[in-house]
Amino acid sequence: MLVIKFGGTSVGTPERMMKVATLVSAIEGRKIVVLSAVSGTTNTLVEISNALMADEQDQASQLIDNLEKFYNNFSKNLFKTSTYHTLGEEIISRHFSLIRLLAAGKFDERSRREMLAQGELLSTEFFHAYLNERDVKSRMLPALHFMSIDEDNEPELEKISERLRPLIKSLEKYEILITQGYICRNHKNEIDNLKRGGSDYTASLIGAAVRADEIQIWTDIDGMHNNDPRIVKNTFPIAALTFDEASELAYFGAKILHPSTIVPAQKYSIPVRLKNTMDEAAPGTIISDSSEKGKIKAIAAKDQITAIKIKSSRMLLAYGFLRRIFEVFEKHHTSIDMISTSEVAVSVTIDDNRALHEISEELMKFGTIEIDHNQTIICIVGNKLADKEGVLKLIFNSLGTIPVRMVSFGGSKNNISLLIETPQKEKALNLLNEGLFEAK
Ligand code: ASP
Ligand code: MG
Repeated sequence: MLVIKFGGTSVGTPERMMKVATLVSAIEGRKIVVLSAVSGTTNTLVEISNALMADEQDQASQLIDNLEKFYNNFSKNLFKTSTYHTLGEEIISRHFSLIRLLAAGKFDERSRREMLAQGELLSTEFFHAYLNERDVKSRMLPALHFMSIDEDNEPELEKISERLRPLIKSLEKYEILITQGYICRNHKNEIDNLKRGGSDYTASLIGAAVRADEIQIWTDIDGMHNNDPRIVKNTFPIAALTFDEASELAYFGAKILHPSTIVPAQKYSIPVRLKNTMDEAAPGTIISDSSEKGKIKAIAAKDQITAIKIKSSRMLLAYGFLRRIFEVFEKHHTSIDMISTSEVAVSVTIDDNRALHEISEELMKFGTIEIDHNQTIICIVGNKLADKEGVLKLIFNSLGTIPVRMVSFGGSKNNISLLIETPQKEKALNLLNEGLFEAK
């Protein structure tokens, strides 16, 4: 069994949805196709919900009318026959009646979540109908029948698996099963979601739940790149990554994959393949257990980092000092990313500033505090990278005179992190790209 997920841009126009249908029909064997909402739809549903929350009914109605027009056009261009044009209209009218009903009632968080679910419900119904029109046999596998999260918003993988297996068995005759990404039910059995960008996560959860042979994530770029293609020249797609490398990259800003996606796949060693809908011949990236050792694979950067330095002569030869500092962060539910210590000072970084004020007030009890905003973590990733001879020399030679605020080496063998000022980021990433990947 394969799990194949297509993102919003891959189904973003009728032509692209047709292309996805062709792709899916060409892939052999049984598969579960996971679709995002048509691109832009979830954003519009968020806007509609925000308008309703702010009691701006007119604004909301206008947005709803425009979105409905968009789908009417979509339907006209997707379907070929009058029977299916009528079916398209019926799908649209059903979902937009519900959207207007939600908008007319008392609009709360629950209505918002139901509103947000309409995007994936629409895209999958359209796709299913379109396959039917083309005489390709497929069945719907409604995500709201099996995908669930617990009180802590964590997916219930075991329960998902228990519900999915018999469902899939009962649909044995069908090679193509279609389901919605992103949406689920919460512990109160209400409609909920896996947070923005969550369709990748859906695919990985399903892949793990049914122990799929492979999870494929189809987007509009040709795999995970070795560096940020938006600001770095001469980047290229990485052929293979380990799960650990991919998680580090996803967390540190490689936008192509939702950071939680790796977790369920890794748990059952199910390979995740990243592919490009616009260029299906491109090899993409395969994420699995195996990868070459000692090779620099990729560089990623994460902005909006704050560095906090706590300096205290009391730290000298004292024990328990770090624990007390960490407890402050724990108390304020703030996670620390990088840390570096000297005998009299410790620097840490955080990416969530919400409790910064309270945290610094408490830290002042230990010594003097210095806070630097607008920092960027640059993370260099590779399997057993730290064992590579001369790796630090290579990195620092490439960086030249760019000031480095913190370095983290040896925490794991797969990652070397540097903290720099954000205005230096573009230059640093380009220099590292030249020094680590282009120089021969
Ligand atoms: N449609 C949802 C979003 O835009 C989920 C996804 O596309 O992954 O966030
Ligand atoms: Mg997406």
